[in-house]
Amino acid sequence: MKNILGANDEIAEQNRKMFADNGVVVMNLMGSPGSGKTTLLEKTLACLAGKIKIAVIEGDLFTAKDAERIERTGVEVVQINTAGGCHLDAPMIQKACTSIDLKAIDLLIVENVGNLVCPAEFDIGENFKAVVLSITEGDDKPLKYPLIFKESTAAVLNKIDLLQFTNFDLQSAKEDLTTLHPTIKIFETSCTQGTGLDEWCAWLSKRVEEN
Ligand code: MG
Ligand code: ZN
Repeated sequence: MKNILGANDEIAEQNRKMFADNGVVVMNLMGSPGSGKTTLLEKTLACLAGKIKIAVIEGDLFTAKDAERIERTGVEVVQINTAGGCHLDAPMIQKACTSIDLKAIDLLIVENVGNLVCPAEFDIGENFKAVVLSITEGDDKPLKYPLIFKESTAAVLNKIDLLQFTNFDLQSAKEDLTTLHPTIKIFETSCTQGTGLDEWCAWLSKRVEEN
């Protein structure tokens, strides 16, 4: 594991330099299958259209279903199929970037494979990580999968409109997140209802502007 991560980190540093040289901010978007990563991405792209030039890398086990959804928004998207692999690594990102005009974009969003475990262990050369946790997954997930929340600059609590139908304790989830990662930025969103998206998009825009 140590050797694999060592080799990965070397390529991740090359990626980071390539992104910096081209003035591109990179967000590594992680979360469980079904947490709403692609839907958040669709809403984010609509919200930032005409303001920030964006490209997307879609990581998926087998299909191009998510990439097709992103393509319909008019944003350039590159698909990586991991053929069963449960995370993206730095070499995959390096390869995918050969077909993206990095000079032409300000922000590259990488939707990682749906998984709360190993995507957090692999540096892909991103500027920051963000994790989507949906209300229906349960409020115990931050403490059960601490690494991904420690590594993420932002946590998006999605499907907040379903709170009333679950036993999800919002207060305790937020306390656990802050205990794990005191500076984590927490967003409460419902991508289907449009809740909290302005705040999320404003925060993301600011991170691109400040680059
Ligand atoms: Mg997806
Ligand atoms: Zn994995």
